[in-house]
Amino acid sequence: MQYYNVTFSGSFTGEATCPKTDLPEFAFIGRSNVGKSSLINLLTNRKGVAKVSGTPGKTKLLNFFLVDDKWFLVDLPGYGYAKLSKGELKSLKKMIYDYLDFRKNLVCTFILIDPNVSPKTGDLAMMKWLGEKQIPFAIVYTKADKSGSKKLQEGITAFRNVVLKQWNHMPPEFTTSAKKKDGGIELMKYMKSIHRTFESINNKDE
Ligand code: GDP
Repeated sequence: MQYYNVTFSGSFTGEATCPKTDLPEFAFIGRSNVGKSSLINLLTNRKGVAKVSGTPGKTKLLNFFLVDDKWFLVDLPGYGYAKLSKGELKSLKKMIYDYLDFRKNLVCTFILIDPNVSPKTGDLAMMKWLGEKQIPFAIVYTKADKSGSKKLQEGITAFRNVVLKQWNHMPPEFTTSAKKKDGGIELMKYMKSIHRTFESINNKDE
């Protein structure tokens, strides 16, 4: 896999305090423990870029990583914490939704789904909200190594069936395993293609 120059740009408490930049951003979101930190490490080909937390829900800030000085990967806090108070949950939710709603240079949001567990209402609600706001998103299935290919396919089909009750078609889908280092190249290619489009549109405007 290609080596990317990845630098940690900082953790931010809300959209208003995030770096002022025109560079495109790709956000990663999902239930805590879905494998988000592991996926970001896979994508950037670095161990420990995003800290793989043993404790679900350790990341409660917007974490920015600059890739090749060209775009940002933004690690959003996981949702679905059991241990947070109502007030903490409310401010976390606001942080996530404000970022997604107001970030002008956000070009794609990746919703991480673990196909080894049944479809979760939180993920479906997030997709619905992004759809209503017309914020582009794609699905990334994680932990593909955990069950055999038949079970994995069944898990993905179960998720699709639930999604297709709300939607006419599926958004782009990617299947990954951080453990087996699978799927990262395809996902990076997709981001690069969006980045190229973003650059050509911006250059035309100049
Ligand atoms: P986060 O809370 O969403 O950032 O999830 P982490 O990346 O910290 O992963 C949560 C747990 O899932 C950890 O125990 C990881 O080792 C495990 N995990 C993450 N990715 C994979 C994967 O691709 N395959 C398997 N089998 N386990 C994974």
